[in-house]
Amino acid sequence: MRSETEEMFFRLSIVGARSNVLSLILLLTLLSIIDSDVMGGTGDRKSVVSSMESIVLVPVGPVDAGTLGYLESELPIQFQVRVRVGPPLSMPRDAFDSKRRQFNSSRLLEQLFDSRRDVNERWLGLTEADLFVPTLNFVFGEADSGHRTAVISLARLREEFYHRKSDPALLHQRALKEAVHELGHSYGLNHCSDFRCVMFFSNSLADTDRKSANFCEEHRKELESALKK
Ligand SMILES: [Zn+2]
Ligand SMILES: [Zn+2]
Repeated sequence: MRSETEEMFFRLSIVGARSNVLSLILLLTLLSIIDSDVMGGTGDRKSVVSSMESIVLVPVGPVDAGTLGYLESELPIQFQVRVRVGPPLSMPRDAFDSKRRQFNSSRLLEQLFDSRRDVNERWLGLTEADLFVPTLNFVFGEADSGHRTAVISLARLREEFYHRKSDPALLHQRALKEAVHELGHSYGLNHCSDFRCVMFFSNSLADTDRKSANFCEEHRKELESALKK
């Protein structure tokens, strides 16, 4: 799709040499098609919709609006795809484990997969609930590359969780790193041995704070080839 769009713009520039007015009309038409993709256009535009890769941020239960807005503005820089906030979902009741008093992240991934309608959308769930997988005490997030879904929890990214003073800017940075990490997995990327790379496995919050929100050179190349597929 990206190359098709580039080709259309190239054609527009040729037309523009002949007539600026005509090129403006064509450009506006093109932009309106792209816009309607994101809103889920129908009819003839459907073919454009289904070929447009995008990331949808899905709040699961009540989620901090500031963090949601921050991710919406920052994630397009890392992934070069459209990012929007999708319809909120409620937490599936059977995700709660009463003994652990935590929520099963794999159950959330299932719910995201079941709720998504456009296969070209990559859904990233965001929740304030504390998440786990059976083999670990907790997880900051989880991803399913086959289903193109991922989820992150803000619970343990908050300073308040450790009885420290709230720090919204720090929360935003941590959420961005975890979101990029899990989305990276959803594109098929594995863990990295470079502690600065966003794909480094965070065993603790200190690991998250130490790494950057960026991919190392190798992972950047791997992501770029995954985005072209
Ligand atoms: Zn990971
Ligand atoms: Zn890396």
